[in-house]
Amino acid sequence: AKSAGGNRFERADAEADARAITRHGLTTALPAALDRGEFFIEYQPLVHLGDGTVHGAEALVRWCHPQHGVLGPDRFIPLAEHTGLIVPLGRWVLQEAVRQARFWNRSHSDGGPLRINVNLSPTQLHHPGLVADTVDVLERSGLDPGALCLEVTESALIGADEDLLKPLRQLAEMGVDIALDDFGTGYSNLANLRRLPVSVLKLDRSFTQGMQTHPVDPVDLKIVEGIVSLAHSLQLAVTVEGVETGAQAEQLRELGCDTAQGWYYARPGAPDRIHSLVLADAI
Ligand code: C2E
Ligand code: CA
Ligand code: CA
Ligand code: CA
Repeated sequence: AKSAGGNRFERADAEADARAITRHGLTTALPAALDRGEFFIEYQPLVHLGDGTVHGAEALVRWCHPQHGVLGPDRFIPLAEHTGLIVPLGRWVLQEAVRQARFWNRSHSDGGPLRINVNLSPTQLHHPGLVADTVDVLERSGLDPGALCLEVTESALIGADEDLLKPLRQLAEMGVDIALDDFGTGYSNLANLRRLPVSVLKLDRSFTQGMQTHPVDPVDLKIVEGIVSLAHSLQLAVTVEGVETGAQAEQLRELGCDTAQGWYYARPGAPDRIHSLVLADAI
């Protein structure tokens, strides 16, 4: 038993080593990957819970690695954050997603512009070029700033001082929406929401998962109801992530959530799919 245990640990060590090697390999390959165009973006629709029409789409980056295949952002965004490559990578994602949104909106303009949501990492938030880069991307594409929503995680803004909020405030003044992503996972003071330049709360997937049990825990319902009513009283729209079933969508609609995103509607996919969904008017 002892030697088996030893083997098990050796194997665990070998796996940890392999992971570390991969992590190191991926980290060093990141800059060239950006130059070689190995990143691509999938888009996931955001749907109005009221009538099922498409409100916009979230841009989600992937890496088509020559040896490891397609890697999800959880595999490389933390590495890019760590090395600072997230700044040029994030700029590329913004530029590409905004260009795509401009293209969708050229051929479909009734019912207001289709929104494009782009994730911002904490490092990008601290980068002094954020506002200038964003203005530049918007101007060059011709996309209405009101069609862009930048998603910032709740944890990145906990305890944020005015210096950190200033660029977000400037962007908000231009008409760019700021969404508080993964809301409910950090322990932010709800009263604090008032001083943040945000116009959208994105309720974390964990709340949606809570809607999956039968019967739904009444306390969970009360919590979501409370967040929605607080958000609405602060003029914030509420988006829910991770909607996987029709029952969850119905429940969240009844609770007053505005828009939803999740596999129930569509998995993240190629840009043409969003285009056809929008042309079809509803999911
Ligand atoms: P996120 O911003 O919370 O994005 C939502 C994640 O939930 C996405 O994972 C999406 O594919 C997944 N998802 C959507 N609907 C469902 C559902 O119904 N059920 C379940 N179980 N999952 C669902 P993904 O694409 O792997 O992205 C993971 C995270 O990586 C994102 O979380 C975001 O924080 C980060 N990320 C993605 N793209 C970018 C980017 O361009 N820049 C930065 N800084 N971060 C990014
Ligand atoms: Ca997001
Ligand atoms: Ca999220
Ligand atoms: Ca999340």
